[in-house]
Amino acid sequence: MTYDTIIIGGGAAGLIAGVECKRLGQSFLIIERNPRPGKKLVITGKGRCNVTNHNTNLDDLVSKYQRNGKFLYGAFSRFSVEDTMKYFKDILKIPLKVERGKRVFPKSDKAVDIIYALTEQVGENILPNTSVMKFNMDGNTISSVTTYKGDFKAKKYILATGGKTYPVTGSNGDGYTLAKEIGHTITELKPALVPILCKEKYVKELAGLSLKYVTISAYQNEKKVCSKFGEALFTHEGLSGPIVIDMSREIGDALEKGEVNISIDFKPAIPKEELDKRLQHDLKESGRKNLRTLLKSYLPSSLIPIVVDLSQIPPSTQACDINREQRNTIIDLLKDFKLTVSGLESWDKAIVTSGGVSIKEIDPKTMKSKLIDNLYFAGEIIDVYGPTGGYNLQICWSTGITAARSRP
Ligand SMILES: Cc1cc2nc3c(=O)[nH]c(=O)nc-3n(C[C@H](O)[C@H](O)[C@H](O)COP(=O)(O)OP(=O)(O)OC[C@H]3O[C@@H](n4cnc5c(N)ncnc54)[C@H](O)[C@@H]3O)c2cc1C
Repeated sequence: MTYDTIIIGGGAAGLIAGVECKRLGQSFLIIERNPRPGKKLVITGKGRCNVTNHNTNLDDLVSKYQRNGKFLYGAFSRFSVEDTMKYFKDILKIPLKVERGKRVFPKSDKAVDIIYALTEQVGENILPNTSVMKFNMDGNTISSVTTYKGDFKAKKYILATGGKTYPVTGSNGDGYTLAKEIGHTITELKPALVPILCKEKYVKELAGLSLKYVTISAYQNEKKVCSKFGEALFTHEGLSGPIVIDMSREIGDALEKGEVNISIDFKPAIPKEELDKRLQHDLKESGRKNLRTLLKSYLPSSLIPIVVDLSQIPPSTQACDINREQRNTIIDLLKDFKLTVSGLESWDKAIVTSGGVSIKEIDPKTMKSKLIDNLYFAGEIIDVYGPTGGYNLQICWSTGITAARSRP
């Protein structure tokens, strides 16, 4: 049988492309290496799936992408954020909600609901437990794909094998090899949107502590590299969370040149002078209370012993005995808590891949290869990525639908 379309990879991009092929009345087959599709999708947004970002201004949306954002004008103007939300509501029957930072989630808070909806729509047209190993070529046209289960033929092929991160989910980067073997250029692949590792041993004691409204800045030779306000999280070996992950590229670039230091401002809304006044007032009021008790209104409890330790003020010191110098030390620890970056996490902890199939070789209006007559690309395999907040899945929805709708 010759299918209208064969989609390689049953992740977000491949599944949405399949749903669209079905709607268009095409015969299609999604070839997926895992027993079930959407293994990565299920862990997105900590199991809640941050579907997209409700940013409806096209220029602003595109400007958020850290790599090759302009390439996305074509797909985003054909299938926008609003189109995506409508598609989820009307076609997939998934009610959505918008949260802080315009992040969009399913109302059920369950990523699995999205996978159920997508797989239900594509029905029997998935071939699981099957890896595509090779494209068979007839000049500039793909004639079939080879798998362990034999060769499969189609008029059109969509390569949606994802990137290289979290390889346990099935996206181990072999889609890049498939594309390279038939002449496509793969730009340098690097793990992107990654947690950072810190030298200080005591971060281990803070693992799991999430910080809500903090500013984190990175410095090199006392020059600011980048800075962000928002949510972060201590891990066993360093820092993670949205703002840290979004700064990881700049931090990674700086690390190639030398040491990078982190400064956390736990009280970004209060200027230093005001914080000093508040602390002076509290010290006066607190009388015989010790430093640990006093700090309870300033810091989460797991941070207090570490801050007290770093301040070198004897923990039993009574509030009324704290001198000006010691007060300044406390203020510095609250406004400029220092850590040293020792490196970045790697592929198994990265959210996306930086690099991929060169955008110079893909038509942005159709996602069609400029080198191969009947090949299209969708999702993370393309050399483009955005920050956390739903921006990366939007790439999958828009490029997946665009690729499905384009004709060879
Ligand atoms: C922990 C985590 C959380 C994330 N959270 C979010 C979020 O909330 N919002 C957001 O926007 N982005 C998020 N992302 C990023 C987002 O998940 C990815 O950008 C997106 O899943 C990429 O989709 P894709 O379809 O291109 O690739 P994948 O989802 O990686 O799918 C590719 C599929 O292809 C299959 N495959 C690979 N090679 C072959 C082959 N040779 N033959 C057959 N099948 C093959 C794989 O098994 C896989 O199922 C998160 C990423 C991670 C790791």
